[in-house]
Amino acid sequence: MELRKGDITKIKADAIVNAANSSLLGGGGVDGAIHRAGGPEILEECKQIRNRQGKCNTGEAVVTTAGNLPAKYVIHTVGPVWDNDEEKCSKLLANCYKNSLKLAESLHVKTVSFPNISTGVYRFPKELAAKIAVQEVSTFDSQLIENVIFVCFDDENEKIYKALLE
Ligand code: ADP
Repeated sequence: MELRKGDITKIKADAIVNAANSSLLGGGGVDGAIHRAGGPEILEECKQIRNRQGKCNTGEAVVTTAGNLPAKYVIHTVGPVWDNDEEKCSKLLANCYKNSLKLAESLHVKTVSFPNISTGVYRFPKELAAKIAVQEVSTFDSQLIENVIFVCFDDENEKIYKALLE
């Protein structure tokens, strides 16, 4: 596990995880940044997925091309909107990490980068979100994934991850 500070669209990885919303049709925050930097191909594939399976449920993950990003795939996962139900939200956020890692494993990738899912407009408490992220990655039983990069965009998350990973 590794910590990087900055914009996830600039960091090379085999698979970049996106904190998408259930519509899969793009949004603000990291989702907007990924679609802007990756180009229209990503949205095209998201639309095809929607036509096939409908919206993506919270905690689940789907994969598309990475378009122009320095990656092979984008894994779109839908984080929970924090509603003060700690048990339910924690479980759903853990599912995001688990299902993204499972999907990455099935794609035979070696490096996966994660943004701090749900800690933006979805208001998940950052400290708890980071604990869940590190817990799920460290307990995931992987044969193929060699490196997981936690990409922190804001100072607060960077500080929290630094302390957790030390
Ligand atoms: P959510 O709806 O899951 O909360 P957001 O995109 O609002 O998603 O925020 C998730 C996290 O992504 C936040 O911690 C935010 O600071 C971070 N973030 C925003 N833009 C980027 C980016 N370009 N690269 C990496 N992380 C980003």
